[in-house]
Amino acid sequence: MKFMLDAGHGYSTPGKRTPDGMREYEFNREAARYAREELKKYENVEVYFSHSDERDVPLTERTNKGNSLNVDAFVSIHANAFGSGGWNNAEGIETYAYSSQPSRSTALAKAIQRQMVASTKRLDRGVKFANFHVLRETTMTAVLVECGFMTNREEAALLKTDSYRKTCGQAIGRAIASYYGLTLKTTSGLYKVQVGAFKKKENADELVKQLKKAGFSPFIYFDK
Ligand SMILES: [Zn+2]
Repeated sequence: MKFMLDAGHGYSTPGKRTPDGMREYEFNREAARYAREELKKYENVEVYFSHSDERDVPLTERTNKGNSLNVDAFVSIHANAFGSGGWNNAEGIETYAYSSQPSRSTALAKAIQRQMVASTKRLDRGVKFANFHVLRETTMTAVLVECGFMTNREEAALLKTDSYRKTCGQAIGRAIASYYGLTLKTTSGLYKVQVGAFKKKENADELVKQLKKAGFSPFIYFDK
């Protein structure tokens, strides 16, 4: 399956920051990176980014890219803000689906909202509907998740931490994986069974003789 993760905005987008200066993009890009890391643990998954560290990619370019790659889902990651610049008490997590086609993306929005609230333990503001460009102009399932308020002191402090970014990214990745029923990759490696370790070679030889007698095919491996 193909997924597009969309970290909202860019480094130099005006506004879009906490009252004490963290840029929203700093959070969004890291959460997207962790979400991709999580999704890559599953089989047959391709993950694309719509955003860039070099510029604030225009919304139309983002949705065109998702549409032309024909991804299965487009997930836009943001941090919220309320009011006109200062700190306030608005808080929590909310996930959006497109208002005119609520059936298209509501189930994925619910899955992400549920997992985000469970993982972050922040206030559950629920699934909402909006006429956002990234929801309206995408031809596939598309949702937008707001991972906490930059204008809330406590949540702004969390949004700055690597651990909260990771928690959000993993929650988003896991929710997508479980919604689409993805299968975890089996870890590669060897499962070894050893039956003895000896300082003297003759003791090893003796065990090999006994194992051969018992029908096994043992071998000696010398490890310094
Ligand atoms: Zn945003």
